Amino acid sequence: MEHLTNADGLLGYYIGIYIMVFLFGITIGSFLNVCIYRLPVGESLTKKNSHCMTCGAYIKWYDLIPVFSWLFLRGKCRACGSKISGRYILVESLTGLLFATTYLRFDVITDGLIYPAFLCLFIAGLIVIGFEDFDTQEMTLGVLIFITSIAAISRIGSMLLPDVFRGNEITLLDGFIGMFSVSVPFLIFGFVLTPLIYCFIISDDHKAARKIKRRLKKEKLNEKETEKLQKTLDKHLEAIKEVGPVYGFGMGDVLLMAAGGLMLGWKAAVVAAFIAILLGAVYALILKLKAKRDDEESVKAFAFGPFLVIGLVLASFFGTTLMDLYIDYLTVPQIPEYYLG
Ligand SMILES: [Zn+2]
Repeated sequence: MEHLTNADGLLGYYIGIYIMVFLFGITIGSFLNVCIYRLPVGESLTKKNSHCMTCGAYIKWYDLIPVFSWLFLRGKCRACGSKISGRYILVESLTGLLFATTYLRFDVITDGLIYPAFLCLFIAGLIVIGFEDFDTQEMTLGVLIFITSIAAISRIGSMLLPDVFRGNEITLLDGFIGMFSVSVPFLIFGFVLTPLIYCFIISDDHKAARKIKRRLKKEKLNEKETEKLQKTLDKHLEAIKEVGPVYGFGMGDVLLMAAGGLMLGWKAAVVAAFIAILLGAVYALILKLKAKRDDEESVKAFAFGPFLVIGLVLASFFGTTLMDLYIDYLTVPQIPEYYLG
């Protein structure tokens, strides 16, 4: 961000651009909300007008101004007064902030507006995927195709029209390697290793079933307790039979990381995966502790996509720099030749 400290008379111009990008971002965020709610259930994005989820009243245009309307109405429907989810303002302001932060990394005068715009479109797709996966544990294929296309256009465009895509730092080869650097390990881990591990060692249903069997054998229980345990045991056995192995990574995660690597390069993709796995592990631990506190027998599977999205967004800002620092750290300093004499 050196361009801001040396901006002199242009500082106002830069700030103006960033404010515009933020306002544009919250407007896009408003559309992303529609995508997040409608795509998973297969509703059209354009057909119906927005309406209140509780009373069904159509929302007037002046109540649809991103962020500001929600604040003005204090999160309540004008017609019926019922609460409007804070999710709306969260997605809108998040989109605005991420767009502005993306542009902040570039000197819009020398780098131009095009390449940061593609990064913003990519991030917009990530936001939809993250929330979709969080809500439904699924990603819609259309959005995955969208971000893959954005990544492909950015890489090919940067090679063919370097002048238009001036801010770009990722080479085509870098992106190509990035496409496979995380997605292939995920593919192997998710579709080969995890099912094996899950089947034989760590399935929660297996574990719970084993525990109950032990209790039934060893403890002296009255009839009612035995019946209750037997019922739970049957449920676990049923689950083991029905669900089969649960994959650690879904196909959506694999495709997401392929697109992420193509867009951001292999270094950022690897950093993104590390961030995601770290956050996912912390989240799993919290779930486990919570389940223990509430005395539930097993931890439910949760979507990993949101963590990958957080990783990719953070890595899009500093992933490459972080990886370079790490590589420098690993590299053994060379002994200057005159010492070797
Ligand atoms: Zn209402």
